[in-house]
Amino acid sequence: MQNNYEISPNLISCLATKATGVLPLVDGAFLPGESTRIVDAHSSFYPIPIGNSGEMVLVDGGMDKHGKRLERFVAQHDLGIGAVRAVLLTHAHRDHIGAIVSLLNRGVDIKVFASAAEDEVLQGQRRSEGKLQMVTDRLPGLDAAIPGIETEILEDGDTISFGDQLQVKALAIPGHTKGSMGFEIKSSLDGSNVLYAGDALDFTPSGAKNALWLLSGDTKISNQSIIELTNRIVREGTEIDAVVPAHSGDAHFNNLRRYRAAQKPSIPRIHRYSAPRHIAF
Ligand SMILES: [Zn+2]
Repeated sequence: MQNNYEISPNLISCLATKATGVLPLVDGAFLPGESTRIVDAHSSFYPIPIGNSGEMVLVDGGMDKHGKRLERFVAQHDLGIGAVRAVLLTHAHRDHIGAIVSLLNRGVDIKVFASAAEDEVLQGQRRSEGKLQMVTDRLPGLDAAIPGIETEILEDGDTISFGDQLQVKALAIPGHTKGSMGFEIKSSLDGSNVLYAGDALDFTPSGAKNALWLLSGDTKISNQSIIELTNRIVREGTEIDAVVPAHSGDAHFNNLRRYRAAQKPSIPRIHRYSAPRHIAF
């Protein structure tokens, strides 16, 4: 039973893709910004190089708490796991925190960025949202707590720069979980700007869809978040080269425009009252 997913992550991913009707997740797929998709038990995480520095940032951490997938990836690039400087966590579900646990266990000096609501789950102060997680979180090893973890708290609109090579903008997209965040990441390597959406949405061959209700806290809020996110990107005139969910293949931003067009108009929520913060890393 243990580590079955490590034997054949693609088999699980393939079955889950068929069951949910989403675009297939391809392990090892290249994304803009010279990022790579690592598929891990139908979740995925992304090492993103910080320019040509030989260092990287991860978006999420997959399922594997032993770090074998990550180890293999860095070895293929003649790097060590110490090359990971930071992890941007979209939300604290068990299938997104694996690499964080493995890196901390190995004493790698990483900075973990997450929203305050997700930090509460990491600290073990509360259980995460999601119908299925409410059950699985009670099983040994399937909760998402990393007690004592030091997290850099992000709020909607905060930005992080990794030198002048990677520019990150945090976007609140609550619903799948209370503190779910997306990250818009601009890379100096190819000038691309990619939106990592975590579990807020998936793509099917016919377009975007809301996160699965069985795995989500509140799909109504999630739906509203997707509409708001789309409105915001259109309003700000931001060019997005790809939208990358964690459980389905990626797609063009126009799919979110089509999704929005098919929904009722939403009333914008206020995400924050203070000015956004910039963190230079
Ligand atoms: Zn999730």
